[in-house]
Amino acid sequence: MNDVVIIGAGPAGLSAAIYASRRGMKTIVIGKKLSEQVVGAPQIKNYPGIEAISGVELVQKMEEQARNFGAEIIYDEVLSIRKEGSEFFVAAKEKKYEGKSVILAIGKGPKHLGIPSEERFQGKGIFYCDICDAPLMKNKVTAVVGGGDSALDAALYLSTLAKKVYLIHRRDKLRGCETTVEKIKEKKNVEMVFDSVVEEFAGEKFLQSVKIKNVKTGGQKELKVDGVFVEVGHEVKSDFVKDLVKLDEQKQIVVNQNCETFYPNTEKTRPGIFAAGDATSSVFKQIVISSGEGAKAGLQAYSYVMKKGMTTDRSAGYGK
Ligand code: NAP
Repeated sequence: MNDVVIIGAGPAGLSAAIYASRRGMKTIVIGKKLSEQVVGAPQIKNYPGIEAISGVELVQKMEEQARNFGAEIIYDEVLSIRKEGSEFFVAAKEKKYEGKSVILAIGKGPKHLGIPSEERFQGKGIFYCDICDAPLMKNKVTAVVGGGDSALDAALYLSTLAKKVYLIHRRDKLRGCETTVEKIKEKKNVEMVFDSVVEEFAGEKFLQSVKIKNVKTGGQKELKVDGVFVEVGHEVKSDFVKDLVKLDEQKQIVVNQNCETFYPNTEKTRPGIFAAGDATSSVFKQIVISSGEGAKAGLQAYSYVMKKGMTTDRSAGYGK
């Protein structure tokens, strides 16, 4: 039996794993190998004590540290969590896991547009991570949807690779950083398509065009493209825990300052389930904050499990 099952293998989950396993807890982390959030941070310059590091490198170092303290890290997708007696049963795609406590560190994932043809072309012309997939657009025609910093960064990056980039935004003003907007305006291969929303994606096996509508005139247009990058923000994919813990209106997991969660629609804390990082209701979304909250959640889980009796000898976790 695991003392703690940590869901999410980003900075929050891995920090929780470092603290929990170092306390001698039998710790398992279930998460994605590298999330878009991690890959999408090519250079982190505000992690204290480290001048510059990529998201991938930082997470790999955290993984190694957690493993050295005895944590097990599994790449799988958790589908549901249920409590029976004092035990939690975590069902993932590949396997089922049991634990005395749970830490939710599920981060945020890219928001989808939610139009029916979107799912069909996912990975076949529709992408959500420019850093990961932009190289596929070398000398091709592409489009970016969105008007925030993610969309602007994607359009700027794609302009260095693609033959042509359409920047499709539902308003007539971009909301991202002015300096990036100015840089984009200088790019001859970027065409702004304002006041427009995507109505449909079309193609056979792969995406071939995007049908858009002007929200002011009602006029419709079809743009021939090889790929579309949907960059319309991020959201917490928390539907699988909505009956377990309280969520706010943005589907974030509501936590108090001790990383404790609550029963749905109540003010009553939910013993044994803790949460940390970008998926929670805490205000600032920063890697260092997620790491700090993860550490806190790891220690909270330790206190909770100590009261119940730990699975392993406490001295086991002090590392190699
Ligand atoms: P964001 O700031 O929330 O922007 C999302 C954009 O997508 C908005 O322009 C929004 O339109 C549009 N949008 C949302 N839902 C849509 C839909 N269903 N259909 C069409 N358009 C839709 O998200 P973000 O760009 O990912 O940035 C998130 C945060 O990270 C921001 O604080 C940002 O500054 C920061 N960030 C910074 C950098 C950087 O500094 N280089 C890079 C990336 C992100 P409306 O404008 O109409 O709402």
